[in-house]
Amino acid sequence: MERETMEYDVVIVGAGPSGLSAAIQLKQLAAEHEQDVTVCVIEKGSEVGAHILSGAVIEPRALDELIPDWKERGAPLNTPATEDRFLLLTREISYRLPTPPQMNNHGNYIISLGNLCRWLATQAEALGVEIYPGFAAAEVLYNDEGAVVGVATGDMGIDREGHPTDQFTPGMELRARYTLFAEGCRGSLTKTLCERFNLREGVDPQTYGIGIKELWEVDPAKHQAGKIVHTVGWPLDPSTYGGSFLYHMENNQVAVGFVIGLGYANPHLSPFDEFQRFKTHPDIRPTFEGGRRIAYGARAISAGGIQSLPKLTFPGGLLIGDTAGFLNMPKIKGTHTAMKSGIVAADAVFAAVTADRKADEVTDYPEQLRRSWLWRELYEVRNIKPSFSWGLWAAIGYSALDTYVFRGKAPWTFHHKPDHTKLKKASECAKIDYPKPDGVISFDKLSSVFISSTNHEEDQPCHLTLKDPTVPIRINLALYDAPEQRYCPAGVYEIVRDGDGSNPRLQINAQNCVHCKTCDIKDPTQNINWVTPQGGGGPNYPNM
Ligand SMILES: Cc1cc2nc3c(=O)[nH]c(=O)nc-3n(C[C@H](O)[C@H](O)[C@H](O)COP(=O)(O)OP(=O)(O)OC[C@H]3O[C@@H](n4cnc5c(N)ncnc54)[C@H](O)[C@@H]3O)c2cc1C
Ligand code: SF4
Repeated sequence: MERETMEYDVVIVGAGPSGLSAAIQLKQLAAEHEQDVTVCVIEKGSEVGAHILSGAVIEPRALDELIPDWKERGAPLNTPATEDRFLLLTREISYRLPTPPQMNNHGNYIISLGNLCRWLATQAEALGVEIYPGFAAAEVLYNDEGAVVGVATGDMGIDREGHPTDQFTPGMELRARYTLFAEGCRGSLTKTLCERFNLREGVDPQTYGIGIKELWEVDPAKHQAGKIVHTVGWPLDPSTYGGSFLYHMENNQVAVGFVIGLGYANPHLSPFDEFQRFKTHPDIRPTFEGGRRIAYGARAISAGGIQSLPKLTFPGGLLIGDTAGFLNMPKIKGTHTAMKSGIVAADAVFAAVTADRKADEVTDYPEQLRRSWLWRELYEVRNIKPSFSWGLWAAIGYSALDTYVFRGKAPWTFHHKPDHTKLKKASECAKIDYPKPDGVISFDKLSSVFISSTNHEEDQPCHLTLKDPTVPIRINLALYDAPEQRYCPAGVYEIVRDGDGSNPRLQINAQNCVHCKTCDIKDPTQNINWVTPQGGGGPNYPNM
């Protein structure tokens, strides 16, 4: 069966803040210059926002540039930040530390990024952008010269053995002069583009964190709209990078989450269980007592900063947002930078389209970026995250020096190593004895995944592909005690055995996958390759 084709000037993969900002900016420029530029956005979530998970405290700088009258238009930025607290936790006690300047949130807003994306999508559609949720871009299309000329959505109705069923519908080809990849952290098509065009040559490897988040409705007496709390320290040991956030949103809701750097060394560590026990700290637990957990999810976060940015352009395509890695890790903020990269990319692509160019390299995009506030912002903080490889205390000391004395202008740049190479052998590391969840403040993985409303068509090929099916037992289990059982926040990977404990094998419960991409990042031999499942599958986050 032939694939249908649709032609656009610009196709954007991903309806997150970067993709939607690019779409809006393109259409605004087209209206301003009385040009007709056709723009299409595809999104693998069942609706815009369904796969969006963030903190989130937003710095409105890029939104101010994109839609200066966002307040009048009803953008869902309803909770101004009122108070910042930065705490160091020990097992029993918390100490209030001075808030690092990067974490000062004066002028920022606590939001649901999912809801902001839903609102941005309505703005984009009003300008004439075509948005197709429920469609995953599964393949990059190339012309005979090797330039990107669009993407194809995945086929629907393929059974688990890869055979077409009677529901079979071939994917669609969305062809464009230029394609913007806005897939967010660890984009699956971006990964193939990096390999094909050698985009990572000469730059540091990207490093990542996993962010696990819950949304709670708390006792109104304990709620303080606008309050922002960050913690470092317990339950992590000082050599493991990470910390928590608690954001008091509107409607008595509190977003609580824990981010752990995926460069952690101990394969016995379980990010999910670290997060659960964090909530039981004597100074954290009271916020949630008498409350109700209403949503759960997880997502990887790009943490490498400016030295890990790949080449951003290649013939016919551009990388924008977190799939390139524009997040400012010391701020734990990537929304304003993702949006700014989308805006700058749109400016450059608009100029190219209206000059009747196509399928060439839009080098104006990185050039304009280098002149923007985004570049300066990332440059100034480039040494802070890498300094955490020395441990928490040394990093706090160095970060203060870098911020207050060098002011981000130190004449050196620290470098990163790939996260998956940092995992030590299980035999070299202490096992971690996590407390059993109490079902009140702390929970198990399965009941958590249940409230992420994750759903995948069961009869489809597994989207968690293994390059070598023997590696999970031969290497991962033998050397690392099967760490995928612990780093996956959705219980997708399980080692199952016969009744007598023999014959271990990896069972992949792919239908539980919340699309966080951690396995694609942390697998010690990079044997797991996450590819898009059938469009519409995955979590259905409400206001995450
Ligand atoms: C736990 C956590 C807390 C955070 N806290 C904050 C914060 O407080 N403030 C802040 O500013 N930032 C925060 N961030 C970072 C922020 O969320 C990201 O920087 C931002 O979302 C990046 O935007 P993006 O558009 O690049 O990608 P995303 O927001 O990830 O959006 C990408 C979209 O593309 C879709 N997609 C991906 N691949 C495909 C495909 N092949 N086909 C179709 N669709 C596809 C996805 O489903 C998704 O909807 C946080 C992140 C995490 C994980
Ligand atoms: S299978 Fe991979 S991408 Fe899916 S939830 Fe688990 S770690 Fe995340």
